[in-house]
Amino acid sequence: MRLGIFGGTFDPVHFGHLALAEECLLRARLDEVLLVPAASPPHKGGKKISRFDQRVEMLELAIAGNEKFKIEPMEADRPGPSFTIDTLEEIHKRRPEDELFLIIGADSALEFSTWKDPAKITRLATLVVRVRPGFPMPTEQEYISQLHNHLGLLPKVIFVEGPPFLDVSSSLLKERVSNSKSIRYLVPRAVEVYIQQKKLYL
Ligand code: ATP
Repeated sequence: MRLGIFGGTFDPVHFGHLALAEECLLRARLDEVLLVPAASPPHKGGKKISRFDQRVEMLELAIAGNEKFKIEPMEADRPGPSFTIDTLEEIHKRRPEDELFLIIGADSALEFSTWKDPAKITRLATLVVRVRPGFPMPTEQEYISQLHNHLGLLPKVIFVEGPPFLDVSSSLLKERVSNSKSIRYLVPRAVEVYIQQKKLYL
């Protein structure tokens, strides 16, 4: 199957994440998308992160009823920082017959060559990049040739333009919750209720 892999901190998951995964599923003709919460995200420095099980519970609430989205909690079992290459290799080992597509946002795409083993990543998976209006991104062709020059191999890349970009981020949501502002309509209702019940981000 054509398997999408979408990693993130998901602290908390929001409609920006879900709309991104949905658009990539459709545009790249994926059969399924695995949402992979990072146990210890290498890019988030020393910032405080909610418990892994709570981030997974919020993901479960967010994707309930969508058979094409699954949660892959494998990063919880690995000690040390969660690197995408390790996750991809593990998924490839478990599901060697699947074709892998790594879904990333435009911000991550611009930093991609600083990730661990970017060349190996592009050998294992096609990059599916969510382009963002007003965000300084090269064209698909320019991006491919930049990566080609940097990595010495021709990566497979799909640029996905989406529906109107929902300008929401987990940081914004946390800030709103801590300032007692509403996050309604920015996250699924069940996630909003969960955040209230567990008193997260206060
Ligand atoms: P933070 O505010 O803490 O940086 P975040 O909302 O960006 O969090 P992450 O879990 O770190 O969430 O993001 C995972 C991926 O989702 C990243 O590749 C990011 O580019 C993408 N993403 C985040 N928000 C949006 C959005 N509103 N629309 C599309 N993609 C998004």
